[in-house]
Amino acid sequence: MARPIVAIVGRPNVGKSTVFNRIIGDKLAIVEDKPGVTRDRLYGRGEWLDTEFSVIDTGGIEIEGEDQIMKSVRMQAELAIEEADVIVFMVDAKAGITPADSEVAEMLFRAKKPVIIAVNKVDNLKRMDDIYEFYSLGFGDVVGISGSHGTGIGDLLDEVIKHFPDTSEEEYGEDVIKVALIGRPNVGKSSLVNAILGEERVIVSNVAGTTRDAIDTPFEKDGQKYVIIDTAGMRKRGKVYESTEKYSVMRAMKAIERADVVLVVIDGEEGIIEQDKHVAGYAHEAGKAAIFVVNKWDIVEKDDKTMHQFTQKIRDHFLFMTYAPVVYLSAKTKQRLHKLFPVVTNVAEQHAARVATHVLNDVVSDAVAINPPPTDKGKRLRINYATQVAVKPPTIIFFVNDPELMHFSYQRYLENKIRGAFGFEGTPLRMFTRRKS
Ligand code: GDP
Ligand code: GDP
Repeated sequence: MARPIVAIVGRPNVGKSTVFNRIIGDKLAIVEDKPGVTRDRLYGRGEWLDTEFSVIDTGGIEIEGEDQIMKSVRMQAELAIEEADVIVFMVDAKAGITPADSEVAEMLFRAKKPVIIAVNKVDNLKRMDDIYEFYSLGFGDVVGISGSHGTGIGDLLDEVIKHFPDTSEEEYGEDVIKVALIGRPNVGKSSLVNAILGEERVIVSNVAGTTRDAIDTPFEKDGQKYVIIDTAGMRKRGKVYESTEKYSVMRAMKAIERADVVLVVIDGEEGIIEQDKHVAGYAHEAGKAAIFVVNKWDIVEKDDKTMHQFTQKIRDHFLFMTYAPVVYLSAKTKQRLHKLFPVVTNVAEQHAARVATHVLNDVVSDAVAINPPPTDKGKRLRINYATQVAVKPPTIIFFVNDPELMHFSYQRYLENKIRGAFGFEGTPLRMFTRRKS
């Protein structure tokens, strides 16, 4: 199920990052606990009344030059308009409506996306009166909040989730594998789509600034139905946008949310850079199946060790995604292209795989027998049973005597044993621990 995306836009210093941190709360900790996962706060996960969503603080998108603030706020708004499901437009109760606020309001108004105005810095009841002037910006939903006190955040989220799109209806049938291609500019995403489709349906150009209106592309290969999900990342907006990491991550978010399988495209010639990590990290956290596709293999100088060494580099950089297979190919010469789709189909199957409870428990019991959980302050973890409760991605709950005793390293040991028994190649596994004695 695609998680809705919430974007927070607004001028610098209105309190966007303060409120962002309030919304994601301790959710971020889940990500940061894991070695290898990036610590940059490009996005976070929020949850309100059992509804999960992604949230991005669009702040920090900055560009050089005069009229900087206005330009960067405009860019944030454009990004939010393109990719978010709900926009939280943050203003400052103390400052009142500024010209920059009015301009953003106009942009958002034209976009016809749900917009909630969060009037921040309403630190006490007296300030509540200050929120009324913001109704004049023309949006119906105006909520007074205080990021520093944490007040009004619940009211804000009530409004936000009311406007989420209905995702209960699947866009495509269960038998269709939805594939998204992500990666930084120029790694060859559009070329790869062309090569896959075998015809020039997507405009490719090495001149920055080419635009196209992307749409999903359904196709069939060897009796299996697929659809290539529109990746806004393929649209080219020009250097300023492309150089902004936060921007490219957010553009990929929506496509990732809608996909089953994410192809993380890497430039084989240029190698891996930090930016590759962020989009891949998002795919991992969104619980999608993933494949590393090393493109431009035609121009890489290689011997019999090169592939092995490159794979090792990928493993070192993406410690959190050791489950993802690596495919080497060339979109240009179509060399090794035939190797890709069998892998796509396989990881899609693994992503949707379900294991029987008794078989899972046999594997867990054996794992515990070989390597019992260490004691912690005289207490030892006891796993009563495990069961898979969901697919896409496979999600396992361990019922234990005390969830506090399940340490990260032991959980990873169990994950390795489970993968050893069932494969689950290409898909992340979610694991939860619940108390039950
Ligand atoms: P951003 O640039 O929009 O991300 O804003 P920040 O979150 O960095 O906040 C800017 C400043 O406003 C910081 O000094 C915050 O401590 C302060 N601030 C944030 N929220 C509140 C609030 O609710 N009340 C008050 N009085 N100050 C706040
Ligand atoms: P995108 O920005 O990720 O969509 O990348 P493009 O598909 O536009 O490709 C960027 C540049 O890389 C273009 O000049 C392509 O011709 C070139 N390119 C793409 N795939 C390959 C490949 O497999 N081999 C070589 N040599 N060049 C490629």
